[in-house]
Amino acid sequence: MLSLRGVHQVFPSARGDVPAVAGVDLEVRPGKALCLVGESGCGKTTTARMAAGLADPTAGSVLFRGRDITAMDKKERSGFRRAVQYIHQDPYASLNPVRTVYSTVSAGLRRHRMVADHREARRVTAELLERVDLTPAADFIDKYPHQMSGGQRQRVAIARALAMNPEVIIADESTSMLDVSIRVSLLNTLGRLRDDLGVGFLFITHDLAVAKYFAWEGEIAVMYLGKVVEHGPTPRVVNDPRHPYTRALISAVCEPDPDLARTKERIRLRSADIPDLTALPPGCDFHPRCPLYAPGECDTLRPPLVRGHDRLLACHVAGQG
Ligand code: SF4
Repeated sequence: MLSLRGVHQVFPSARGDVPAVAGVDLEVRPGKALCLVGESGCGKTTTARMAAGLADPTAGSVLFRGRDITAMDKKERSGFRRAVQYIHQDPYASLNPVRTVYSTVSAGLRRHRMVADHREARRVTAELLERVDLTPAADFIDKYPHQMSGGQRQRVAIARALAMNPEVIIADESTSMLDVSIRVSLLNTLGRLRDDLGVGFLFITHDLAVAKYFAWEGEIAVMYLGKVVEHGPTPRVVNDPRHPYTRALISAVCEPDPDLARTKERIRLRSADIPDLTALPPGCDFHPRCPLYAPGECDTLRPPLVRGHDRLLACHVAGQG
């Protein structure tokens, strides 16, 4: 439905070009979640912004239903903007503080003439609020953002996205600023939209535990310094990570069960420092930090992302399952 084909994004800077995203291929399917995980600065948000049409790729293409979004005319582009909705990380900044919930959620409905009049706009807005568990809707519809909690604001942002009957939702760290209990509740709400309405999700997170919870029946793509290094079905990637970077990410997830925590694999990186994007090391980008680093190969040849029998993997050493 939404495809990224070899997308690149290079930002010019005083210190040289910054290759924030370097040749990423992804596919978002109806009713499925694709989680993009990685550390801050790995290119997740830049990739998400290109997928949403908020930034044009420097190279490569973004296709929606097989059509390159940069080649779309005004009408097609408007349809794309409605079909692909973006939910930002910060529920405090993504809502206009001087607009009520009704004004925020119904703005798109009114702009695209999806409702006949004010009465219908309020009715549809109330239905959307109920759908995202802001119940009873009458308690929220005339509130301003400052009168609500972070979790409630994020639900308003989701209701605003749902108002457009989206086919794809791009959620950029949408739960990372929320308390754990609210986060789980919001993930459950998003999961219902995915399962009941068939919305496809591109879910951006630095938290593998969140990816595991939200996309267990979907896929995880792990990004490092602008490239996907491992991509496969979530249970395979989480239960049997192959790339040393994925293994390091998983070993860093807190394990609440002390017995499991004791037996969990601990990955010690050779260095905590992330290479500068303007001066990437030769060979594998991860080699200065990688515990499996093989001199002579890892520091000279860049490993391509190769399809094995159950996943895509970019590593000279880690075996394909
Ligand atoms: Fe580590 Fe070498 Fe694999 Fe890179 S290619 S992740 S340095 S083992």
